[in-house]
Amino acid sequence: MNGSNRRVFMLQVAAGSTALMAASAAQAQAAMVNEKDAQAAALGYVADSTKVDAKKYPKHAATQLCSNCQLYAAKATDPAGPCALFPGKLVAGKGWCSAYVKKAG
Ligand code: SF4
Repeated sequence: MNGSNRRVFMLQVAAGSTALMAASAAQAQAAMVNEKDAQAAALGYVADSTKVDAKKYPKHAATQLCSNCQLYAAKATDPAGPCALFPGKLVAGKGWCSAYVKKAG
């Protein structure tokens, strides 16, 4: 790779990482689901799984978290991520709702 090609390559790498940073910034800016939103309330969503109403949701277990739910579209270690049930918003990794489905594997 000659000097000119290397410069072009470095510029491409820089442009690529800027685009990646913009994408993650966009995700970081998405609003968190509000527990009081109609959809969230209907599903019994809470941002803190330890606050689930055990009388209303007796099947809830402490190990059930958004971060290990099939519908959580982020890494299990991410503090928040998208969920198919709440388009355009983020749910808390430690959250829970009554539509919880254990992630396969
Ligand atoms: Fe969390 Fe899963 Fe309910 Fe979405 S469906 S809010 S990821 S428990």
